Amino acid sequence: EILADQIAAGEVVERPASVVKELVENAIDAGGNRIDILLQESGLKSIRIIDNGSGIDGQQVELAFKRHATSKISSRTDLFKVGTLGFRGEALPSIASIADVKMVTANGNGPGKSVHYHGGQLQAVGEAQSRRGTDITVNDLFYNTPARLKYLKSLQTELSKITDIVNRIALSYPEIAFSLQNDGRELMRTSGHGNIQQVLANIYGARNAQKMVKIVGENVDFKINGYVSLPEFTRANRSYITILVNGRYIKNFQISKAIIEGYGSKLMVGRYPVAVLNVQTDPVLVDVNVHPTKQEVRISEENELLELISKTIFDELADKNL
Ligand code: ADP
Ligand code: MG
Repeated sequence: EILADQIAAGEVVERPASVVKELVENAIDAGGNRIDILLQESGLKSIRIIDNGSGIDGQQVELAFKRHATSKISSRTDLFKVGTLGFRGEALPSIASIADVKMVTANGNGPGKSVHYHGGQLQAVGEAQSRRGTDITVNDLFYNTPARLKYLKSLQTELSKITDIVNRIALSYPEIAFSLQNDGRELMRTSGHGNIQQVLANIYGARNAQKMVKIVGENVDFKINGYVSLPEFTRANRSYITILVNGRYIKNFQISKAIIEGYGSKLMVGRYPVAVLNVQTDPVLVDVNVHPTKQEVRISEENELLELISKTIFDELADKNL
C-alpha cells in the first residue's frame, strides 16, 4: 500500500509547490479564515501549514491518511459538481509516503490529536492540546525518492513556484488571511478583508494595484469579472495571469491567450498584463476531473468564452482612451 501511495505521489507531488498547493487546498476546504505557510529551505526541509478550520475528528485522523479516504464526496454524482478543491483522497497518503509528516488537529470537541508518519508508516499517535484547526508539518520531502529530488531546480526556483501558487490562491480567496514565510522571512501577507484589489495591493504593491482596470462581461453561458493591469505594469509576464472558474483556480492556455489577445490587440503586442479573471458558469459546462492535480479543466462552449474574454478586455481598455 505504501508503494501505491508513492506511485500516486509521483502524480500529485512533483515539487514542494505541489505539496503547498494540496495542503493549502485542504485548509481552504476546512472552512477557516486564516492560513499561515511557513517554509524552510524553500519547502525542501520543511513545509508547515496552520489553519483555523474545522479540524479533523480524532476518530478520523488515521483514516484521512489512507488512500481514497476523502470526506468530500458522498455519491458518484457529486463528482460532476465538485464544490470543494480536494476530492480524490490522495494528497495526505501520497505526501506521507515520501516525507516525514506531523499533524496536530482538533475539531473543538474535546482534546486534539497528533499523528506522526515517516515514509508512510505511522510512528506515533497521541492526544494533543490544540485550538480548533489543523497544524501540519512536512519535513524532508522526497528523502526516500532521490530520483525526484534530483529533478528539482534551485531553491530559488522552487520558492518562486510556491510564491506563484500562493499568490494565485490568495487572489482566489480574498476573504481568507494568508501569510507566507521562508527561513523566517515574510514573503507575503493578505488581510482577509474580502476584496481582490486589496489582495492585488498586498502582492504587487498599492501603487500597482491602483493601475488595474476592472473587467466585467457576460454572455448566455458565462459571466466574467476581474482586473487587468494597465501598461505601466512592467513586471508582468505570462505567469501573472490568474484564472478562476467558479472560484477554482485553473491553468488554461487558451484562456490566457484570450486575455493576452484582448490586451495586446489594443495596446502593445508582446506585453503581458497582470490579470485576475473569474469565470462563472453552470458547473455542468466544466469538467474538472481531467488530471489528479485538478488544475486542468475542460470547458464546453469554450470558443464563446474566449471571444467574450478578449472582446471584454479590449472594450474596457478602449474606454480608457489609452
Ligand atoms: P481530499 O482533499 O481529496 O479529500 P486529502 O488526502 O487531501 O484528500 O485529505 C483527506 C481528508 O483529510 C480530507 O477529505 C479531509 O477530511 C481531511 N483533511 C485534510 N486536511 C485537512 C485540514 N487542514 N482540515 C480539516 N480536514 C482535513
Ligand atoms: Mg486534498
